[in-house]
Amino acid sequence: ERKKLSRLKKTPAITQDGGYIALLANIELPGDAPAALDAGAVGIGLFRSEFMFMGRAGHLERFPSEDEQFESYKKTLVAMKGRPVTIRTLDVGADKPLDEDEQTALNPALGLRAIRYCLSEPQMFLTQLRAILRASAYGPIKLLVPMLAHAFEIDQTLSMIEQAKQQLRERKQKFDEEIPVGAMIEIPAAALALPMFIKRLDFLSIGTNDLIQYTLAIDRVDHEVAHLYDPLHPAVLFLLSSVIGQGRKAGIPVSVCGEMAGDTKWTRLLLGMGLQEFSMHPAQLLSVKYEILNSDLRLLEPQVKKVLRATEPAAVTAGMAQLQALVS
Ligand code: PEP
Ligand code: MG
Repeated sequence: ERKKLSRLKKTPAITQDGGYIALLANIELPGDAPAALDAGAVGIGLFRSEFMFMGRAGHLERFPSEDEQFESYKKTLVAMKGRPVTIRTLDVGADKPLDEDEQTALNPALGLRAIRYCLSEPQMFLTQLRAILRASAYGPIKLLVPMLAHAFEIDQTLSMIEQAKQQLRERKQKFDEEIPVGAMIEIPAAALALPMFIKRLDFLSIGTNDLIQYTLAIDRVDHEVAHLYDPLHPAVLFLLSSVIGQGRKAGIPVSVCGEMAGDTKWTRLLLGMGLQEFSMHPAQLLSVKYEILNSDLRLLEPQVKKVLRATEPAAVTAGMAQLQALVS
Protein backbone atom coordinates (compact mmCIF):
# COMPACT_ATOMS: atom_id res chain seq x y z
CA GLU A 1 0.00 0.00 0.00
CA ARG A 2 2.74 2.48 1.08
CA LYS A 3 4.81 1.42 -1.90
CA LYS A 4 1.94 1.92 -4.31
CA LEU A 5 1.34 5.39 -2.90
CA SER A 6 4.98 6.40 -3.17
CA ARG A 7 4.68 6.06 -6.95
CA LEU A 8 2.36 9.08 -6.82
CA LYS A 9 5.02 11.42 -5.44
CA LYS A 10 5.57 13.28 -8.68
CA THR A 11 2.03 12.89 -10.01
CA PRO A 12 0.16 16.19 -9.91
CA ALA A 13 -3.05 16.05 -7.87
CA ILE A 14 -5.64 16.34 -10.63
CA THR A 15 -9.22 15.15 -10.37
CA GLN A 16 -10.84 12.89 -12.99
CA ASP A 17 -12.40 15.94 -14.61
CA GLY A 18 -9.13 17.87 -14.78
CA GLY A 19 -9.25 20.06 -11.66
CA TYR A 20 -5.81 20.82 -10.21
CA ILE A 21 -5.60 20.64 -6.42
CA ALA A 22 -2.58 22.04 -4.56
CA LEU A 23 -1.30 19.74 -1.81
CA LEU A 24 0.97 21.44 0.70
CA ALA A 25 2.59 20.37 3.95
CA ASN A 26 2.30 21.45 7.56
CA ILE A 27 5.61 21.61 9.42
CA GLU A 28 6.74 22.56 12.92
CA LEU A 29 10.48 23.06 12.48
CA PRO A 30 12.82 23.73 9.53
CA GLY A 31 14.09 20.15 9.86
CA ASP A 32 10.66 18.89 8.76
CA ALA A 33 11.00 20.44 5.30
CA PRO A 34 12.82 17.50 3.64
CA ALA A 35 9.97 15.17 4.62
CA ALA A 36 7.51 17.61 3.04
CA LEU A 37 9.51 17.68 -0.17
CA ASP A 38 9.86 13.92 -0.12
CA ALA A 39 6.09 13.52 0.12
CA GLY A 40 5.71 15.61 -3.04
CA ALA A 41 4.31 18.74 -1.37
CA VAL A 42 4.12 21.73 -3.74
CA GLY A 43 4.97 24.01 -0.84
CA ILE A 44 4.57 24.59 2.88
CA GLY A 45 1.01 25.62 3.67
CA LEU A 46 1.60 26.01 7.39
CA PHE A 47 4.88 26.48 9.24
CA ARG A 48 3.83 26.53 12.91
CA SER A 49 6.56 28.91 14.03
CA GLU A 50 5.63 28.63 17.73
CA PHE A 51 7.54 25.35 17.98
CA MET A 52 10.77 27.35 17.67
CA PHE A 53 9.67 29.34 20.71
CA MET A 54 8.15 26.68 22.94
CA GLY A 55 9.98 25.21 25.88
CA ARG A 56 12.56 27.97 25.90
CA ALA A 57 10.52 31.01 26.88
CA GLY A 58 9.41 32.27 30.24
CA HIS A 59 11.24 35.49 29.63
CA LEU A 60 11.09 37.47 26.45
CA GLU A 61 14.86 37.68 26.19
CA ARG A 62 15.00 33.92 25.82
CA PHE A 63 13.04 33.99 22.57
CA PRO A 64 15.01 33.16 19.45
CA SER A 65 16.71 36.31 18.16
CA GLU A 66 15.86 37.97 14.86
CA ASP A 67 18.94 36.48 13.19
CA GLU A 68 18.24 33.01 14.56
CA GLN A 69 14.65 33.14 13.29
CA PHE A 70 15.74 34.57 9.95
CA GLU A 71 18.22 31.69 9.48
CA SER A 72 15.50 29.13 10.28
CA TYR A 73 13.02 30.62 7.83
CA LYS A 74 15.66 30.94 5.12
CA LYS A 75 16.80 27.36 5.73
CA THR A 76 13.22 26.16 5.25
CA LEU A 77 12.92 28.12 2.03
CA VAL A 78 16.18 26.70 0.69
CA ALA A 79 15.13 23.16 1.65
CA MET A 80 11.87 23.65 -0.29
CA LYS A 81 13.83 24.53 -3.45
CA GLY A 82 11.82 27.53 -4.61
CA ARG A 83 8.41 26.30 -3.54
CA PRO A 84 6.28 28.72 -1.50
CA VAL A 85 6.57 28.65 2.30
CA THR A 86 3.70 29.97 4.43
CA ILE A 87 4.99 31.06 7.82
CA ARG A 88 2.44 31.50 10.55
CA THR A 89 3.32 34.06 13.20
CA LEU A 90 3.58 32.89 16.77
CA ASP A 91 0.45 30.98 17.82
CA VAL A 92 1.02 30.34 21.51
CA GLY A 93 -1.36 29.80 24.37
CA ALA A 94 -4.09 27.25 25.09
CA ASP A 95 -2.98 23.89 23.64
CA LYS A 96 0.49 25.33 22.83
CA PRO A 97 1.70 26.96 26.07
CA LEU A 98 4.99 28.83 25.91
CA ASP A 99 5.75 27.72 29.39
CA GLU A 100 3.64 25.18 31.31
CA ASP A 101 4.11 26.99 34.60
CA GLU A 102 3.03 30.33 33.23
CA GLN A 103 -0.40 29.32 32.01
CA THR A 104 -2.65 30.96 34.58
CA ALA A 105 -5.73 31.90 32.55
CA LEU A 106 -8.90 30.12 33.59
CA ASN A 107 -9.93 29.54 29.96
CA PRO A 108 -6.66 29.74 28.01
CA ALA A 109 -8.33 28.90 24.69
CA LEU A 110 -10.37 32.08 25.13
CA GLY A 111 -7.51 34.11 26.55
CA LEU A 112 -4.49 36.05 25.43
CA ARG A 113 -3.30 33.62 22.78
CA ALA A 114 -1.88 33.84 19.25
CA ILE A 115 -2.27 37.26 17.60
CA ARG A 116 -3.77 38.66 20.81
CA TYR A 117 -0.54 37.81 22.61
CA CYS A 118 1.62 39.14 19.74
CA LEU A 119 -0.17 42.48 19.65
CA SER A 120 0.42 42.78 23.40
CA GLU A 121 4.17 42.17 22.91
CA PRO A 122 4.99 44.53 20.02
CA GLN A 123 8.80 44.24 20.29
CA MET A 124 8.68 40.45 20.19
CA PHE A 125 6.19 40.57 17.29
CA LEU A 126 8.21 43.12 15.30
CA THR A 127 11.30 40.93 15.75
CA GLN A 128 9.48 37.96 14.23
CA LEU A 129 8.02 40.06 11.42
CA ARG A 130 11.45 41.45 10.50
CA ALA A 131 12.91 37.93 10.47
CA ILE A 132 10.13 36.66 8.17
CA LEU A 133 10.42 39.70 5.91
CA ARG A 134 14.19 39.33 5.62
CA ALA A 135 13.77 35.70 4.60
CA SER A 136 11.28 36.79 1.92
CA ALA A 137 14.19 38.32 -0.01
CA TYR A 138 15.33 34.76 -0.78
CA GLY A 139 12.12 33.21 -2.17
CA PRO A 140 8.34 33.02 -2.05
CA ILE A 141 7.22 33.50 1.54
CA LYS A 142 3.67 34.15 2.69
CA LEU A 143 2.82 35.52 6.08
CA LEU A 144 -0.10 33.90 7.91
CA VAL A 145 -1.69 35.33 11.06
CA PRO A 146 -3.56 33.11 13.56
CA MET A 147 -6.75 33.78 15.57
CA LEU A 148 -7.85 37.05 14.04
CA ALA A 149 -11.46 38.00 14.77
CA HIS A 150 -11.74 41.79 14.71
CA ALA A 151 -11.17 44.27 11.88
CA PHE A 152 -9.00 46.39 14.16
CA GLU A 153 -6.77 43.39 14.88
CA ILE A 154 -6.23 42.89 11.15
CA ASP A 155 -5.51 46.59 10.72
CA GLN A 156 -3.15 46.67 13.69
CA THR A 157 -1.32 43.60 12.36
CA LEU A 158 -0.98 45.14 8.91
CA SER A 159 0.36 48.34 10.38
CA MET A 160 2.92 46.36 12.43
CA ILE A 161 4.02 44.63 9.21
CA GLU A 162 4.40 48.06 7.60
CA GLN A 163 6.40 49.22 10.62
CA ALA A 164 8.72 46.19 10.35
CA LYS A 165 9.20 46.92 6.63
CA GLN A 166 10.07 50.52 7.41
CA GLN A 167 12.68 49.39 9.95
CA LEU A 168 14.26 47.15 7.32
CA ARG A 169 14.28 49.97 4.77
CA GLU A 170 16.12 52.14 7.27
CA ARG A 171 18.64 49.34 7.78
CA LYS A 172 18.86 48.92 3.98
CA GLN A 173 17.92 45.25 4.28
CA LYS A 174 16.08 43.51 1.45
CA PHE A 175 12.62 41.95 1.64
CA ASP A 176 9.65 41.23 -0.60
CA GLU A 177 7.63 44.47 -0.74
CA GLU A 178 4.64 42.48 -2.00
CA ILE A 179 4.73 39.69 0.59
CA PRO A 180 1.22 38.16 0.71
CA VAL A 181 -0.49 38.40 4.10
CA GLY A 182 -3.28 36.03 5.07
CA ALA A 183 -5.46 35.10 8.02
CA MET A 184 -6.29 31.84 9.68
CA ILE A 185 -10.07 31.51 9.71
CA GLU A 186 -10.49 29.60 12.95
CA ILE A 187 -12.90 31.65 15.04
CA PRO A 188 -16.58 31.38 14.04
CA ALA A 189 -16.87 35.18 14.14
CA ALA A 190 -14.23 35.40 11.41
CA ALA A 191 -16.03 32.87 9.25
CA LEU A 192 -19.30 34.74 9.74
CA ALA A 193 -17.82 38.16 8.92
CA LEU A 194 -15.61 37.08 6.03
CA PRO A 195 -15.93 40.23 3.85
CA MET A 196 -13.93 42.06 6.53
CA PHE A 197 -11.07 39.63 5.91
CA ILE A 198 -11.41 39.44 2.13
CA LYS A 199 -11.19 43.22 1.89
CA ARG A 200 -7.93 43.46 3.85
CA LEU A 201 -5.96 40.30 3.06
CA ASP A 202 -4.41 38.31 0.23
CA PHE A 203 -5.36 34.77 1.24
CA LEU A 204 -7.21 32.73 3.86
CA SER A 205 -6.48 29.44 5.56
CA ILE A 206 -9.15 27.60 7.53
CA GLY A 207 -7.95 26.12 10.81
CA THR A 208 -10.52 23.41 11.35
CA ASN A 209 -9.01 22.30 14.66
CA ASP A 210 -9.84 25.59 16.33
CA LEU A 211 -12.88 26.37 14.18
CA ILE A 212 -14.52 23.16 15.41
CA GLN A 213 -13.41 23.76 18.99
CA TYR A 214 -14.92 27.24 19.08
CA THR A 215 -18.05 26.44 17.06
CA LEU A 216 -19.00 23.51 19.28
CA ALA A 217 -17.58 25.00 22.50
CA ILE A 218 -15.45 21.96 23.27
CA ASP A 219 -11.87 22.18 24.44
CA ARG A 220 -9.79 20.38 21.81
CA VAL A 221 -7.46 18.92 24.45
CA ASP A 222 -10.10 17.87 26.99
CA HIS A 223 -10.66 14.11 26.69
CA GLU A 224 -13.92 14.34 28.61
CA VAL A 225 -15.54 16.14 25.68
CA ALA A 226 -13.59 14.57 22.82
CA HIS A 227 -16.69 12.62 21.74
CA LEU A 228 -18.42 15.93 21.00
CA TYR A 229 -15.72 16.97 18.51
CA ASP A 230 -17.63 16.52 15.25
CA PRO A 231 -16.48 17.82 11.85
CA LEU A 232 -19.88 16.77 10.45
CA HIS A 233 -21.97 18.93 12.74
CA PRO A 234 -24.23 20.91 10.36
CA ALA A 235 -22.97 24.19 11.86
CA VAL A 236 -19.35 23.25 11.08
CA LEU A 237 -20.27 22.16 7.55
CA PHE A 238 -22.11 25.45 7.01
CA LEU A 239 -19.12 27.55 8.11
CA LEU A 240 -16.66 25.54 6.03
CA SER A 241 -18.65 25.69 2.82
CA SER A 242 -19.52 29.33 3.40
CA VAL A 243 -15.86 30.37 3.72
CA ILE A 244 -14.73 28.27 0.76
CA GLY A 245 -17.62 29.54 -1.38
CA GLN A 246 -17.18 33.21 -0.50
CA GLY A 247 -13.44 32.96 -1.08
CA ARG A 248 -13.94 31.49 -4.54
CA LYS A 249 -16.51 34.11 -5.43
CA ALA A 250 -14.18 36.90 -4.37
CA GLY A 251 -11.19 35.31 -6.11
CA ILE A 252 -9.12 35.07 -2.92
CA PRO A 253 -7.22 31.81 -2.31
CA VAL A 254 -8.60 29.65 0.51
CA SER A 255 -6.89 26.61 1.95
CA VAL A 256 -7.67 24.25 4.80
CA CYS A 257 -4.70 23.52 7.07
CA GLY A 258 -6.45 21.89 10.05
CA GLU A 259 -6.45 18.12 10.61
CA MET A 260 -9.51 17.74 8.35
CA ALA A 261 -7.32 18.47 5.32
CA GLY A 262 -5.16 15.42 5.98
CA ASP A 263 -7.90 12.89 6.71
CA THR A 264 -9.11 10.99 3.65
CA LYS A 265 -12.54 10.65 5.28
CA TRP A 266 -13.11 14.33 4.47
CA THR A 267 -11.24 14.75 1.16
CA ARG A 268 -14.29 14.37 -1.07
CA LEU A 269 -16.41 16.55 1.18
CA LEU A 270 -13.89 19.41 0.97
CA LEU A 271 -13.40 18.92 -2.77
CA GLY A 272 -17.14 19.05 -3.32
CA MET A 273 -17.31 22.32 -1.36
CA GLY A 274 -14.87 23.77 -3.91
CA LEU A 275 -11.62 23.57 -1.95
CA GLN A 276 -8.54 23.72 -4.20
CA GLU A 277 -5.76 23.87 -1.62
CA PHE A 278 -5.07 21.41 1.19
CA SER A 279 -2.24 21.58 3.73
CA MET A 280 -1.48 18.63 5.98
CA HIS A 281 1.12 16.55 7.78
CA PRO A 282 3.52 15.19 5.12
CA ALA A 283 2.65 11.60 6.10
CA GLN A 284 -0.95 12.11 4.90
CA LEU A 285 -0.17 13.71 1.59
CA LEU A 286 -0.04 10.72 -0.72
CA SER A 287 -3.22 9.13 0.66
CA VAL A 288 -5.09 12.38 0.13
CA LYS A 289 -3.63 12.62 -3.38
CA TYR A 290 -4.82 9.10 -4.14
CA GLU A 291 -8.34 10.10 -3.10
CA ILE A 292 -8.20 13.21 -5.30
CA LEU A 293 -7.01 11.27 -8.34
CA ASN A 294 -10.06 9.06 -7.94
CA SER A 295 -12.58 11.85 -7.56
CA ASP A 296 -14.68 13.65 -10.13
CA LEU A 297 -15.82 17.11 -9.08
CA ARG A 298 -18.82 16.94 -11.41
CA LEU A 299 -20.15 14.02 -9.38
CA LEU A 300 -19.02 15.25 -5.97
CA GLU A 301 -20.48 18.74 -6.08
CA PRO A 302 -24.19 17.82 -6.31
CA GLN A 303 -23.75 15.12 -3.66
CA VAL A 304 -22.01 17.53 -1.26
CA LYS A 305 -24.86 20.01 -1.80
CA LYS A 306 -27.19 17.25 -0.56
CA VAL A 307 -25.01 16.73 2.54
CA LEU A 308 -25.09 20.48 3.20
CA ARG A 309 -28.88 20.62 2.88
CA ALA A 310 -29.31 17.85 5.45
CA THR A 311 -30.61 19.12 8.75
CA GLU A 312 -30.47 15.83 10.68
CA PRO A 313 -27.24 13.96 11.56
CA ALA A 314 -28.65 10.72 10.13
CA ALA A 315 -29.19 12.42 6.78
CA VAL A 316 -25.65 13.84 6.89
CA THR A 317 -24.25 10.36 7.56
CA ALA A 318 -26.28 8.83 4.74
CA GLY A 319 -25.20 11.60 2.36
CA MET A 320 -21.55 11.08 3.31
CA ALA A 321 -21.83 7.33 2.65
CA GLN A 322 -23.19 8.06 -0.83
CA LEU A 323 -20.37 10.53 -1.40
CA GLN A 324 -17.76 7.91 -0.52
CA ALA A 325 -19.46 5.35 -2.76
CA LEU A 326 -19.34 7.49 -5.91
CA VAL A 327 -17.13 5.96 -8.58
CA SER A 328 -15.88 7.95 -11.48
C1 PEP B 1 -6.12 24.77 13.34
O1 PEP B 1 -6.54 25.39 14.32
O2 PEP B 1 -6.82 24.03 12.64
C2 PEP B 1 -4.71 24.89 12.93
C3 PEP B 1 -4.28 24.47 11.75
O3 PEP B 1 -3.84 25.44 13.79
P1 PEP B 1 -3.35 24.75 15.15
O4 PEP B 1 -3.78 23.32 15.12
O5 PEP B 1 -1.88 24.96 15.16
O6 PEP B 1 -4.08 25.57 16.18
MG1 MG C 1 -5.43 26.95 15.27
